[in-house]
Amino acid sequence: MPSFTFFERVSRAFRDHGSNLKLVLLCTTVSGGGVLAYGEAVAASEAAVTEKKKVVVLGTGWAGTSFMRNLNNPRYEVHVVSPRNYFAFTPLLPSVTCGTVEARSIVEPVRNIFRKKKVDVQFSEAECVKIDAANRKVYCRSNISNNLNEKEEFVVDYDYLIIAVGANVNTFNTPGVTENCHFLKEVEDAQKIRRTVIDCFERASLPSLSEEEKKRILHFAIVGGGPTGVEFAASLHDFVTEDLVNLYPGIKDLVKITLLEAGDHILGMFDKRITGFAEDKFRRDGIDVKTGSMVVKVSEKEISTKEMKNGGEITTIPYGMAVWSTGIGTRPFIKDFMSQIGQINRRAIATDEWLRVEATNNVYALGDCATINQRKVMEDIAAIFKKADKDNSGTLTVKEFQEVLADICERYPQVELYLKSKHMNDLADLLKESKGDVEKESIELNIEELKTALSKVDSQMKFLPATAQVASQQGTYLAKCFNRMEECEKNPEGPIRFRGEGRHRFKPFRYKHLGQFAPLGGEQTAAQLPGDWVSIGHSSQWLWYSQASQLAHKGVSSIRLDTTLYFWEGLKSNLKEFQHFPESCSGNIAELVNS
Ligand SMILES: Cc1cc2nc3c(=O)[nH]c(=O)nc-3n(C[C@H](O)[C@H](O)[C@H](O)COP(=O)(O)OP(=O)(O)OC[C@H]3O[C@@H](n4cnc5c(N)ncnc54)[C@H](O)[C@@H]3O)c2cc1C
Repeated sequence: MPSFTFFERVSRAFRDHGSNLKLVLLCTTVSGGGVLAYGEAVAASEAAVTEKKKVVVLGTGWAGTSFMRNLNNPRYEVHVVSPRNYFAFTPLLPSVTCGTVEARSIVEPVRNIFRKKKVDVQFSEAECVKIDAANRKVYCRSNISNNLNEKEEFVVDYDYLIIAVGANVNTFNTPGVTENCHFLKEVEDAQKIRRTVIDCFERASLPSLSEEEKKRILHFAIVGGGPTGVEFAASLHDFVTEDLVNLYPGIKDLVKITLLEAGDHILGMFDKRITGFAEDKFRRDGIDVKTGSMVVKVSEKEISTKEMKNGGEITTIPYGMAVWSTGIGTRPFIKDFMSQIGQINRRAIATDEWLRVEATNNVYALGDCATINQRKVMEDIAAIFKKADKDNSGTLTVKEFQEVLADICERYPQVELYLKSKHMNDLADLLKESKGDVEKESIELNIEELKTALSKVDSQMKFLPATAQVASQQGTYLAKCFNRMEECEKNPEGPIRFRGEGRHRFKPFRYKHLGQFAPLGGEQTAAQLPGDWVSIGHSSQWLWYSQASQLAHKGVSSIRLDTTLYFWEGLKSNLKEFQHFPESCSGNIAELVNS
């Protein structure tokens, strides 16, 4: 061990724990007691270490990893628990199914991320099985079995709990789905799909099978016309028409791809122009798009659907491989946690706008497992009125209102959205609308008139989508709050507390939508960017390329990435954070490398 002089030790301690030591150094100077100074320096630094708050993070997906990447306050001691010891870049999963991208190119070991941190981080490859919020404990079980096929169990205490465990696949309890369908959620799922597609082609090439059986085996059914189902259908079509038909020329004409969607259109969350274009393109490509077709049962060889357009008639379709991609559900231990805290009959954990789980202390939830319960203006209207009415006159002037407008817009983002939707410049226009033809300056409202003026603003509230963009932005936001916890405790930077005193510690989370892309195969992409800007076709592919390379290196995905290896190779050079992982990695990653 290197030996340090007294001054080296003091200066090192000062550098590490500067604020704790200022007082000690001052005492030293006055008393002249050098030994006293050193003794106190050690004590102070030990105190600083023991004061560390324990943060437990559950999950290493978009939300958990983005929290960890951005957390840099050494006052925390972090324990990350996740059954996956790597982060997976989910937008590229559909490309893994068809082999255009290798699985190992889209994952990064989390230990690699944590290694670079100044914060104390411990990682356990395990799953949380229970949260005991009352006693601040999480119960975990390792997902690696020992020689006796037993799994280690352990309990972790926390001061702060960050729940970022994503979501389950939602089968809507449809019989036979779990047993017979593939899902596309994890890297292992994508690899399994890839193997199954090839297996189907090999089986259909066996000489003993009838033509009908070959047709069945080569019928690929995709259930769910959302972005994932559409992108997978497009990737599969490209894979079949560009690669497999050359390898299996004798059976190429027997291949069929069907996309089943219960709603009236595929890509329902996109602009109508994109939906129409995608449906037409798929039909031209020979992908059978069946809308209004709800899957009610899946058996080993057949899918039963209820045809909404034909009065609910039940039909059956023979299939060889089915991929289920119909949305997300709640993990069982999250359901249990939600019932503990009185959040029953919900799909996701309800948080406030600061991502704190409602009805708990020091528990935060983000990403696909959570949803923000945006507070309504109408719930707080009396408190807003009281705060704004500074002279207690019982009426509000425009000037009084404008003084709290910034805080209102920050606390209730729906107000700003409403003003924008009505093309109004400021709140005075809104107040004027409710007061009729009077001069702005002379407007005065009582509480009932204020209620009328703001009665429609809550209609602008929207739930955030379950996307990587949202999860990643929430992780970054929360880490920044944690980094500045003490600072903002002393100098709160959030909006006024309308129902209490002072200000909120932090600004609430605000989502910034960066746009959405849907690759449709054949180098064609649909893009919907902020401001309802829509671009479809080959040109958007290039737009997507350029935006992808700019955004992906930040670990932010607004992108449904394409299947061209050429582009991916180019993109990878921009993906500073997504490197090939070292062969020496253990656990899940090693399995991926070998597969
Ligand atoms: C095929 C596909 C393509 C997609 N494409 C896009 C896209 O282009 N753009 C976009 O914005 N979004 C896309 N998404 C959605 C996006 O991937 C999700 O919204 C995002 O992953 C949510 O992040 P998360 O951190 O909440 O959950 P996840 O990323 O799912 O991470 C959850 C983490 O929790 C861990 N975990 C699970 N159970 C436990 C437990 N019991 N204890 C501890 N840890 C646990 C998991 O192992 C994982 O590490 C896509 C999704 C899929 C499946």
